[in-house]
Amino acid sequence: MTLSQAIRHIEKQLPELELLKDEPMERHCSFRIGGPAAAFARPRGEEELEYLCQLLAGADVEPLIVGKGTNLLVTDGNVERFVIQLGEGLSSVRRVGQDRLYAEAGITLARLASAAQEWGLAGLEFAHGIPGSLGGGVFMNAGAYGGELKDVVTAADFLDSDRERFRLPAARLDFGYRHSVFSDADTVILGAELRLTPDDPEAIRERMRTLAEKRRASQPLDLPSAGSTFKRPKTGYAAALIDQCGLKGYRVGGAMVSEKHAGFVVNAGGASFADVLAVVEHVQETVLRETGVELEPEVRIIQ
Ligand SMILES: Cc1cc2nc3c(=O)[nH]c(=O)nc-3n(C[C@H](O)[C@H](O)[C@H](O)COP(=O)(O)OP(=O)(O)OC[C@H]3O[C@@H](n4cnc5c(N)ncnc54)[C@H](O)[C@@H]3O)c2cc1C
Repeated sequence: MTLSQAIRHIEKQLPELELLKDEPMERHCSFRIGGPAAAFARPRGEEELEYLCQLLAGADVEPLIVGKGTNLLVTDGNVERFVIQLGEGLSSVRRVGQDRLYAEAGITLARLASAAQEWGLAGLEFAHGIPGSLGGGVFMNAGAYGGELKDVVTAADFLDSDRERFRLPAARLDFGYRHSVFSDADTVILGAELRLTPDDPEAIRERMRTLAEKRRASQPLDLPSAGSTFKRPKTGYAAALIDQCGLKGYRVGGAMVSEKHAGFVVNAGGASFADVLAVVEHVQETVLRETGVELEPEVRIIQ
């Protein structure tokens, strides 16, 4: 089936589904860049998501799964994809034991960390300031300030490429630096179980506050971006290498290497997809030439 035939098929089979056509992706990406998506669906729950994914598999259409769009750089041309956003409809969290939580993939890491804090469960303080969803976080093993999701996730539920539901324990999730078993697979993460550590809610809140201050002091949170543009190389830090090459403030059109944090490419106003790519490529070429280090984008690029 072509994409437009598949969209018509979905409309017939799932008339209740919230399905937007030609929906600008810039509305759903923290970079504020992204052209119209052929279809943009927001399932209201797991059952609807599962059925939608099965229908798309039957139509031989691989959806683009997104959470909060905070690690995405999307083309500003037509996005010929069926986008499925996991958000409000899949954002429940519940306690499943004294020190365990189960959360759906669409919950934001901020809300998840706050829920844990209120229940007096420590271990997610690092995640409170990461602006993505749990699904996006598990996908790339999000981390900050010495913590990573792999430290707390004990199992994840997902739909495989045949849209069958599976659960894998953490030992089989192949977690590594900004990587998981899901990073290179056509899978849909549905939720995860986490094990945390009982602690005083006020102490947890205080640690979250301290990390939020650190983040505000060092990151350009006032400008749209997708966070750290590059992964940490094997030697050194991307931001330090970029700074060392004198690239802070390097600009093409509306895209710029942040003056505040050289690891962030920011949208300083009206940046196009091509502007950001030009800055990314210039940074990669310059850092390689000047320091011999190859920088790999952390941001997922959707052409
Ligand atoms: C200001 C700022 C600060 C940031 N700080 C950090 C930080 O400290 N540490 C850090 O690790 N990251 C950081 N990030 C990056 C980003 O927030 C994380 O990578 C986050 O985990 C992405 O989640 P998301 O829901 O936004 O995913 P999206 O951007 O929506 O998607 C990212 C990738 O995950 C896939 N994906 C998302 N959800 C699912 C799912 N349910 N099933 C299957 N695949 C899925 C998408 O297909 C895509 O390939 C920052 C970003 C910004 C803008």
